Amino acid sequence: MGNNRAGSSGKTNITGDLSYSVDTCARCGFCKPVCTTYPFGNGFEAFSPRAKVHYIKQVLEGKQKLTPEWVDRLYQCTTCERCVENCQTEISLVHLWEALRAETVRQGIGPMPMHAKMREAVDEYNNPYGEPKEERNKWMQPDHSPTEGAELLVFGGCTGSYRMTAMLRTGVTILQRMGIPYAYAGPNEMCCGSPILRTGQLESASRLIGTNLDLFEEMGIKEIVSPCSGCSKTIKHDYPKWAEKLNKNWSGKVQHFSELYVELLRDGRIKPTRRIEKTVTYHDPCHLGRAQRIFDEPREILRAIPGLKLVEMEFNAENARCCGAGGGVKGHYPEMAAQIADKRVLEAVETGADLLVTMCPFCQASFTQSIDKLGVNIELIGVEELLLQSVEG
Ligand code: SF4
Ligand code: SF4
Repeated sequence: MGNNRAGSSGKTNITGDLSYSVDTCARCGFCKPVCTTYPFGNGFEAFSPRAKVHYIKQVLEGKQKLTPEWVDRLYQCTTCERCVENCQTEISLVHLWEALRAETVRQGIGPMPMHAKMREAVDEYNNPYGEPKEERNKWMQPDHSPTEGAELLVFGGCTGSYRMTAMLRTGVTILQRMGIPYAYAGPNEMCCGSPILRTGQLESASRLIGTNLDLFEEMGIKEIVSPCSGCSKTIKHDYPKWAEKLNKNWSGKVQHFSELYVELLRDGRIKPTRRIEKTVTYHDPCHLGRAQRIFDEPREILRAIPGLKLVEMEFNAENARCCGAGGGVKGHYPEMAAQIADKRVLEAVETGADLLVTMCPFCQASFTQSIDKLGVNIELIGVEELLLQSVEG
């Protein structure tokens, strides 16, 4: 699995060269049938990525203005990158959407109201949920003991720390069992900035990223690991550019926990031995799969667990469907996000698997709600939880 596409790591810095990017559109429409949110436009071309590119071209040429109607359409996008994956001229479409969103904010006609509320929460509480800063480390277990001065930082992320905490807790438990020293910033950790960046609110994003970069430097951090696909993508791909822009030092290695687990498996430090006689199907989080090209690692972990049988959904890896939550869609268009999540859960049920597994707290939150609502017979669990169960046997 995997191809040469760069995902959101970017082949072209289109933020600085919008006109070049839109000029290369061949109007083939390959992006249209794969778009996660296009079906919500009742078949109107204006909701397709192709139409959005054409509209942006006209805006750049001064033939169109950014209207509230089009601003709304621009925010109806989960930043899933299915369009990027299928674009025949390899336009970094998600960069384009994000750049235009930032422009709507600059002109005072964006973001959508719930995105502005989310930014207000982040500005006050350092997380989009408006949760108390001092409770950011409540997920920790009594035996979790970070090592002061460790060069590896566990970055929990907001959803991982406040909402779906199992992936973070399990990741830290595995590090401890392996005797790997790790640092943790607790209440000093800020939102990574992903939901703020994706909705074009660059000023707030700049504060969050700048503060986190200062924190990494103060703590002497050389490596970061996160259970969240959005945080790991943002710190891996966006922070180096922002560090340059903000004149800060940062050149550390960034991993999603899946990458670290695979290293531990490959060098024999972690050995799953207990059999788990279950059938699982794996959902590729968009920001882990298409954005970071991490398709094989989670599957390698699952295949290493004795007894576990992996079955694929019809749409998997590069073609995986989205959970519906990303790009601010869950915040401002919750009904749309829920319908997208339902579709993915039903696709998982169709495989006949006992378990739906994923490696992103944000996807996990969406699927939890869908499974409850639909009343379907499939259990949701993180890949790392299965790994830990198998190691403990
Ligand atoms: S990123 Fe996803 S939702 Fe957005 S335009 Fe592309 S395919 Fe559609
Ligand atoms: S797939 Fe790419 S080139 Fe084709 S219409 Fe969509 S954006 Fe344009």
